[in-house]
Amino acid sequence: MTTYSELLASVSTESGQEIFNPATGESLGFCPVGTAADVDAAVATARKAQREFAKLSHEQRSELLMKAADAVEANAEALAELLSREQGKPLNGPNARFEVGACAGWLRATASFESPDYVAVDADVKATVTYRPLGVVGAIGPWNWPMMISVWQIAPALRMGNAVVMKPSEYTPLSVLALVKVLNEVLPENILQVVTGGGEVGAALSSHEGVDKLMFTGSTATGKKIAAASADNLTRLTLELGGNDAGIVLDDADPAAIAGDLFWGAFINTGQTCAAMKRLYVPESLYDAVCAAFVDVVAASPMGVGLDENNVLGPLQNKAQFEIVDRLVKAAVDSGARVLTGANPDYDAPGYFYPATLIADIDPENPLVVEEQFGPALPIIKYTDLDWAIEQANSLDVGLGSSVWSSNRERALEVAGQLEAGTTWINAHGAVDPRVPFGGIKSSGYGVEFAVEGLKGLGYPHIVNG
Ligand code: NDP
Repeated sequence: MTTYSELLASVSTESGQEIFNPATGESLGFCPVGTAADVDAAVATARKAQREFAKLSHEQRSELLMKAADAVEANAEALAELLSREQGKPLNGPNARFEVGACAGWLRATASFESPDYVAVDADVKATVTYRPLGVVGAIGPWNWPMMISVWQIAPALRMGNAVVMKPSEYTPLSVLALVKVLNEVLPENILQVVTGGGEVGAALSSHEGVDKLMFTGSTATGKKIAAASADNLTRLTLELGGNDAGIVLDDADPAAIAGDLFWGAFINTGQTCAAMKRLYVPESLYDAVCAAFVDVVAASPMGVGLDENNVLGPLQNKAQFEIVDRLVKAAVDSGARVLTGANPDYDAPGYFYPATLIADIDPENPLVVEEQFGPALPIIKYTDLDWAIEQANSLDVGLGSSVWSSNRERALEVAGQLEAGTTWINAHGAVDPRVPFGGIKSSGYGVEFAVEGLKGLGYPHIVNG
């Protein structure tokens, strides 16, 4: 079992890009600033290693993933502390310890899926479909769930016999380096590599002719750049991009019963979650009761430095994200919307803390409603006509998740059937599961992660017909 200090010392360098704790401004260390030449070298050695790795059976690769999960668990506390210090998220709540636990859980679940291979057979045909590895997978990730999203990319890629070259966000490289160091205790050499650095490293990876598939999670704007950069090589893509998920409360919901799940649906990871609820539509008849119950949950949810065991909300991870949230809340307040709780951050205090904020009586066209805030500020929009609320939920050019909140499952399903999104949750929001496919529509991206459907995206079907 490694300690936090040992783990940090094993991945941070003497110089390079300096990394800071977003809650305190404390310097954690440095990481290398990679170059296109580093990407070339990583792709070349990955390709060589992949040829041998591809010869392993599904069972052998699953066994490696199981061992990788054990290695994560053996180092869980050190990984969680590093994640908390670098990303800012608290140890407790659905945050750092939860994220490290999810890494182990995703590795085990991915190891246990059936192989996607099958035989298509009837009286006239017999075709054997075998999913073969693609080769080298380039994995580019964001700063909000740096370890978990890395595992979402790594686990299916390895299970299907590919090698992986990762490029973490420049805001959270140490978390990914540490995770990969732990995974590499059990993986064959060069099968999983990381090149740290800025967007130009991601650009080099996404335009690289030696990369057979790109898994990208991040903003829609960067997703478009990656699609353009990879076009010449016709590189396969899975793009998990931004969202602006709507939740719709129906008029038979119980405000007190749903308030806790509404809170975590919106404010998990302090709102910095792709499939978090980012706008909430509430019927006039329940409006005051839902707002009041929600405010009570916010008041009982402490925000602060991640290593304080009491906190469940942390800072925004970086200044740019703080400024986005601040701008959007100001736009709401300037338009005459009502602050139920939060807003008014202390600009002079250390750290990028933005108070958990609920905004009522807001115009449905306000920027806080129609733009992705990616932080702890939720607009609550009043409605009188359910069809109007459904139309509003579907009105944006993104479609990652959505949710319906109701005491009547049949009614909830009926509304869910009308929502345009990759996933619609009932009485929950953002609850992803390795056994359930996940992906977006519209500008939220394409391709599917998780479950056997996810495995299929990391291989190509080779068919023997006859
Ligand atoms: P970005 O798109 O800014 O960055 C994501 C990654 O892409 C980073 O590693 C970044 O590197 C890299 N990158 C930057 N420029 C390029 C380029 N030209 N070519 C290739 N890679 C590049 O996203 P954020 O990290 O800011 O994450 C927040 C956004 O991601 C939000 O919009 C959110 O909705 C979305 N997101 C979506 C998720 C999903 O599953 N759909 C999950 C999580 C986030 P660097 O950091 O060094 O610039």
